[in-house]
Parts: sequence; structure tokens; C-alpha cells
Amino acid sequence: MIASHWNSSRSIIPATASAEIATQTRWHAVVIGAGPGGAAVAIRLARHNMRVLLVDRDSMPRPKLCGCCLSSMALAELADLQIPSGKLRPVPLNAVCVAAAGGSAWIAMERSACLSRESLDSTLVQQAIDAGAHWLPGVNVSAIDSALGDPHAWALGLSVGILGRFVSQPLPFSGIVLHAECAVVAAGLADHIRIQNGSGSAIPRRFPWPAKRPLERRQTALKSRVGVGTTLATEAMDLESGKLVMAVARGGYCGLVRLEDGRIDLAAAIDRRLLSDSAGPAGAVRRILHEVFDGQPLDGFTLPSDDALTVATYRATPPLTHRSSLVAGDTGRIFRVGDAAGYVEPFTGEGMGWALASSRLCAEAILAHWPPRVHPADPIQVVAAGDRYRRTYKRLFASHHARCLRVARSLRSPRLVAGGLWLTRRVPWIARGVLPLLIGSVAPGHAHPWRRQ
Ligand SMILES: Cc1cc2nc3c(=O)[nH]c(=O)nc-3n(C[C@H](O)[C@H](O)[C@H](O)COP(=O)(O)OP(=O)(O)OC[C@H]3O[C@@H](n4cnc5c(N)ncnc54)[C@H](O)[C@@H]3O)c2cc1C
Repeated sequence: MIASHWNSSRSIIPATASAEIATQTRWHAVVIGAGPGGAAVAIRLARHNMRVLLVDRDSMPRPKLCGCCLSSMALAELADLQIPSGKLRPVPLNAVCVAAAGGSAWIAMERSACLSRESLDSTLVQQAIDAGAHWLPGVNVSAIDSALGDPHAWALGLSVGILGRFVSQPLPFSGIVLHAECAVVAAGLADHIRIQNGSGSAIPRRFPWPAKRPLERRQTALKSRVGVGTTLATEAMDLESGKLVMAVARGGYCGLVRLEDGRIDLAAAIDRRLLSDSAGPAGAVRRILHEVFDGQPLDGFTLPSDDALTVATYRATPPLTHRSSLVAGDTGRIFRVGDAAGYVEPFTGEGMGWALASSRLCAEAILAHWPPRVHPADPIQVVAAGDRYRRTYKRLFASHHARCLRVARSLRSPRLVAGGLWLTRRVPWIARGVLPLLIGSVAPGHAHPWRRQ
């Protein structure tokens, strides 16, 4: 079996709150989703003495579909989180081979690194626990009702109710309702959590199934690609640590990188049509790699065999490019961060940086208008926190999202990419100028546009 499963001495992080404590506590914030966005917001709020519960439908560590590259923004945000040194050991990336049918070029990289999501996400969850947050894995949240909070507080609009179920328990006994002053949705691309504005009762009408009132749906870009990915065993291909290979074809693109534990991470963004024409992810990835590399010499690496790609276990995402409302619910107590708030195709490998940065902005907005000693927060302050989050998010991300959309559009034309690569091989300084535009990095000595000045 070539598909590799994560073997590590890192053991599962146990829950720190029982179901009983979780339901009986009036939380200042319940954070849903323990990816980088959710864990980072939990760390920041817990460090300011807020009562925080971090829930996820999975346990930690868990595998996650991702290219695993940390952009300079992600590295800066991780530094800002002050994770004790030695806890995270990303592998610095020093070169990327961009390849399209008709040519390839190695381009030097700086201030980027790669790290498996098992390692990154579980370290951040452990940091959230160390900061004082409680951790409850195995809870799949289905709805948040802005008028379904603490029975004493809901009438005044002072809390929200979070409805979920324990994934490991049979249905009639698995329901759980959490009460919090605010909910932070960090459920990633798979966010399907219903936002309900006032079911008018402290008890859901059809507990544990929420009343059907879908509101505030996400907007998905037309023809958005979907993500697929897997990890392959160490020996699946020759690829030096610190090197990244990106193959750009007509129906999508695919990245390969060696993780810190030797496995190969494969992540791709693929047209839905190619996926169905190729009878699934393995066929689609094989077609991309054949289209790009058949007939051209491989420079410094080999490719995984068709057999290795066929037997691998793939994960997939819903359509990638989308946006949702940053603040939801009629009382404005539901915030979205990370992929749940908005996302653009991942060629530029910036999603984790965006998730970490949006969680910082969200936490800053909550803490500025909602200091822990003033609970429950008055509704005017809650609205002010939402306004501040929207404003700072837009200021930070508008240009990044626009740049990534332009990159994503250009990548639909492998001829354009091949032309760019041809030029890059002849005029190398062009690569140095273009790469920061592609991956959003900043030349040394320049201010980081996303940092507070
Ligand atoms: C093909 C591909 C390649 C990528 N490559 C890169 C890259 O190289 N670099 C980079 O920076 N980014 C990359 N990204 C993007 C990156 O993976 C995301 O941007 C990042 O994971 C977002 O973090 P998040 O915390 O918002 O969400 P996630 O990391 O998706 O975390 C969401 C969490 O919420 C949990 N959850 C979901 N629904 C529920 C629910 N209902 N109840 C409870 N829990 C729930 C999930 O179990 C999960 O743990 C890539 C994405 C794709 C698709």
C-alpha cells in the first residue's frame, strides 16, 4: 500500500471538558473548528482570560487536505502568536519548480516553509489548551441560533445557542446545546452550519435537528475548482526536502512537497469537469502530471508512479473560491474566520496565512469592544466589534484576494504559464519580480502590508 498514513508518536489530544461541563458553562466564546483559524482565535481570546471552548468534529491530530506550505504571512502570524520555540519545526522552502506543458523553471523562494497539518494543527490546539481554552473534539455543529442561547439571556439577545451532536454516539442520544456570548465559526470550506435568527424558544423545535431556516448562504464563484489531495509514502518519488513542484495543466494544477517526516504531500485544484471525466481524483491527478511532464525531462526530481497515485486515499473539498458574511446572526454575535469567511484558489498557498490573520483581526475586534470583565457585552459594543472586524478584514484582504483571483485566472491558460516560464528561463530577474506577486511575499526590508505599522 503506497498511500501513507501518518505514523507519529504524537498521541491524540484528550478533551479537557466533559459534555456536562460544556453544556452547563456559559462560555464567553465557542470556537467551531480547530484548524489554524479556530485554534489561533482560541489562543488569543483565552490569553485574555475569556472562557473559551474550542470544538471540532474530528480529534487532533488528524490528516487534512492542504499543500502544507506556510507563506511569509503565515510565518509572521505564527511568530505573532508566540508559540514557544521548538514546538513547530517547519522545513524552509528554497525553490519551486513551476512546470506547464512545454517547459519548466526552478525559481528561488524565500520566507516560505512547509509543515504537515497534523503537526501544525495539533500544536496550535495544544497551545490553546495551555492558554486556558477548553477542548471538546468529536462534536459536529449543525446550527447556531442567535436567539437560542442561555434561557435567561436570549430574550435580551445576549447570547447564542450552538447545536451539535457527538459524532461517535447514536443519533437520539448524541445532541448537545452549548451557550455562549459569541460564536466564532472556523469550520473551513466544509462550513455547512446553519445560522438561524431566532427560533423564538430556548429549546429547538425538533431537537437535535434544528428548525429548517437556512439564512446567509455562501456565494461560490462560478466554475470554481475543487481541491483534492493525499499524502504518499516517503519513497513514492525523489524530491529533495525544501523543494516544491507545481504542475499547471488545462484542467487544474497540482503541488508536490516533502513534509518534515519524509512523506510527500500532494494537493491539487481541479476543474469539476476534469474530475468527472477522469473518474475521480486519482485519474485527474494522473492526467495533470502526464499533460505537463510527458515529453519533457525532469529536472531534479522524479514523479510518483501511476500505481502510487491510483492506490492513494484522496480527500476532496467543496468548490474553493467563495465568500460568506463575516458577521452573522441578527444579534451580530456570530463571526466567521479563515476559509469559512472566504477563500480563493490555493496556487499561491496563502490560505493558512489568511486564516491566522483573520483570526487575529477577529480576536482584536472582540477584545477591543468586549473586554472580559464586561460580560455580558452590551449589544452596541457587539455591533461595534463586528463593524471593526469587517473593516479591518476588508482593508487587509481586498488586495490579496484580488491578486489571487488574477493569478487563478491566468493559471487557466497553461500557454500563458509556459510563455512566462520561457521568459523566466531567459531573463531570470523576471522570476524574482513575479514570484512575490504570485505568492504574496515581500522583499526583505519592506514593511509587511498585513502587519500593524
Ligand atoms: C488543494 C489545496 C491546497 C492548499 N494548499 C495550501 C498551502 O500550501 N498553504 C496554505 O497556506 N494554504 C493552503 N490551502 C488552504 C488551507 O488548507 C486553508 O486555507 C486552511 O486550512 C484554512 O484554515 P481554517 O482554520 O479556516 O479551516 P480548516 O483548516 O479547514 O479547519 C476547519 C476545521 O473545522 C472542522 N469542522 C468543519 N465543520 C465542522 C462542524 N460542522 N462542526 C465542528 N467542526 C467542524 C474541521 O474538522 C476542521 O478541523 C490549500 C487548500 C487546498 C484545498
